[in-house]
Amino acid sequence: MGIKAPRGTVDILPQDMEKWHFIEDIARQTISCYGYQEIRTPIFEATELFVRGIGDSTDIVNKEMYTFQDKKGRSITLRPENTAAVVRAYLEHNLGIQQGSLIKLFYMGPMFRYERPQAGRQRQFYQFGTEAIGSVHPGLDAEVIAMALQIFEQVGIVGLKAELNSVGCNECRTSYHAVLLEYFRNHISQMCPDCQMRLEKNPMRILDCKAKTCQIYISQCPTVIDSVCPACRNHLDEVIKYLQLMGISPILNPRLVRGLDYYTKTAFEIRDESLGAQNAVAAGGRYDNLVRDMGGPATPAIGFAAGMERIILAMKNKDIEPIGKQNMVYIAVTSEEVRDKSAALAQRLRADNIPVELSWDKKSLKSQFRHAANMNARYTIIVGDSEINQGKVMLKDMTKEEQQLIAVEELSAWFKSG
Ligand code: ATP
Ligand code: MG
Repeated sequence: MGIKAPRGTVDILPQDMEKWHFIEDIARQTISCYGYQEIRTPIFEATELFVRGIGDSTDIVNKEMYTFQDKKGRSITLRPENTAAVVRAYLEHNLGIQQGSLIKLFYMGPMFRYERPQAGRQRQFYQFGTEAIGSVHPGLDAEVIAMALQIFEQVGIVGLKAELNSVGCNECRTSYHAVLLEYFRNHISQMCPDCQMRLEKNPMRILDCKAKTCQIYISQCPTVIDSVCPACRNHLDEVIKYLQLMGISPILNPRLVRGLDYYTKTAFEIRDESLGAQNAVAAGGRYDNLVRDMGGPATPAIGFAAGMERIILAMKNKDIEPIGKQNMVYIAVTSEEVRDKSAALAQRLRADNIPVELSWDKKSLKSQFRHAANMNARYTIIVGDSEINQGKVMLKDMTKEEQQLIAVEELSAWFKSG
């Protein structure tokens, strides 16, 4: 086989799909409980959207975008994240006006970044995320963090903590930039070429550098929290207060910054230590200037995004199986004569939402049982000549060595009660 999936992409195979659906269902349900509605934006957008939205001195825009020209010469980019696109749609469709002051949107889907593929880092990866546009209230920040943590709890990844920081507003950032310039001036010649460029263009980006040589200097640099203005400090204190009211104690991390320029004030990250180097499962924060920067009225907002592949990896590391998974029922036939009856039975059960598999081709009972085992069927129904003529079948629980004769009429109710 010559052609393989492109580097950094993976096929999500049927054996993993149950986990994907499990997480997606929980995310959808939990996020809906917080009043969010789904939005689906295009996979590709005008390149300009991300350059303006994410910032032209970020790694994402500088190094990681899949950008190409379409046949009319327009510059198009596969979305590396979805906040900028959701804000674009929000402005394009006047969603703010339709919904009153606060609109809450969520999305799920693939994102694309040209990164070095590693465990938990791909070039096509899936995120789900939320954007709440139209409120400056710190209680909303706390609610977003609580919602993200609740999703992990329900998936079974328990005990995760949110790391929290404030990255300030435009005003305090200006004074922090001056503090950083002063501090890094003496070290920059020993730091990586990227950081040398960052010091000129956007010194806070240095704090996100992963290069070992730079880490020594970054670990000792002044933190943003010492430079934030009283209003930003107060906002952070209020977020902490609301989190505590919700029974959540965040970990304050004064060195936390985010890789996108649009963040203001609240920044947070949720990590799972089982994941090693790529341990952030979700991250987010406030972006009070983005709507205005994209040409809309000044509108505060906050959101987060979570990485599906890392959640799946964490589930595997912790042996978490999807709970409440539906048990597959396998219908085996003892002879060709009863095959039409088994097909009718399968359709009846499926109509009642019971997952059923039956074999069309496997002849012997033995090979049908093997097929059932390969499918991880929880139950096998054996349709025999004399039993089916009395409206009955043999029902076998594959996890116990038990079987019982049961009326076809009662099967659906029996599975539903189990
Ligand atoms: P990292 O520091 O790990 O690169 P990031 O700050 O670039 O993460 P965000 O842009 O905030 O990540 O995206 C939110 C989440 O999406 C991350 O916490 C992570 O779970 C996931 N994610 C980001 N990039 C990738 C990728 N290349 N492959 C898989 N998952 C990713
Ligand atoms: Mg990244």
